[in-house]
Order: sequence, then C-alpha cells, then structure tokens
Amino acid sequence: MILFLDDQAARRARFLREYPMATRASTAAVAIHFLTQACNNGGMQPIICLDHDLGGTGDCEPCGANCGCAVVEHICHLVRCEFRAPRLVVLHSYNAPAAQRMQARLHEAGVNAVLAPFNATRFWAEIAEILNA
Ligand SMILES: [Zn+2]
Repeated sequence: MILFLDDQAARRARFLREYPMATRASTAAVAIHFLTQACNNGGMQPIICLDHDLGGTGDCEPCGANCGCAVVEHICHLVRCEFRAPRLVVLHSYNAPAAQRMQARLHEAGVNAVLAPFNATRFWAEIAEILNA
C-alpha cells in the first residue's frame, strides 16, 4: 500500500506508528527490489515516500547509487517499460534542491509527485488524501 524509504530509523518508526502496514526501506537497493517484486506480482505501490540522502550523514552530493534518485530512475523505468505508475510519490527529503530534481524527473515521466518534508502537516495530509480518495 505504501513504500517508505528513509535511512533514519526514527523516521521509519514514526511512519510505522501512523501506517503499520507500510513497507519500510532504508536503502535505495531495498526499495528498488521491493518495487520490482511488486511489479512482477502485477501491481505497484499506490504511494511511495522517498528520502534523498541515504548515506546516514549529510547530503550525498554528487548523487550515488544509494540516494533517492536511483529509486526515482527505477520508477521512471517501470512506468516506461511496464506501464505501472504509483498514484503518488511524496518527496519528503529536507534537501530541497535534490527533492526538486527528483520531482522534475518524475513529472517528465508523467508521475504524480509532490514535495512535502517529512512530518510537516502537508506530508501527512498528502498521504491521507490519496488513501481516503
Ligand atoms: Zn540523488
């Protein structure tokens, strides 16, 4: 139902309190593996929440394999090749320039994507809106 990617354990725990059924991932590789499996099973997570900097400390510039951009590229690939798009991608990183780049890339691929920093009122509201639709 929801895939939540973040390298901070406290954020994953906070998210789990709100959405106990969510799938949590702490690395880009785990998130990509999960999305691939979901697609192979004929589905796609309706909501995907992505952090950007997954290295544990600070910003990961330039972007590497373990950053949210790798997952964005994989989502774009799934949309292009499997015609499976999530209903919403929430970019919840506090690294605003990186989150904006991820959003632009998803918009290019025709994916609904919003910027909402983790735990901001807007962050929870964006998810609830899709779930309650
Ligand atoms: Zn990146």
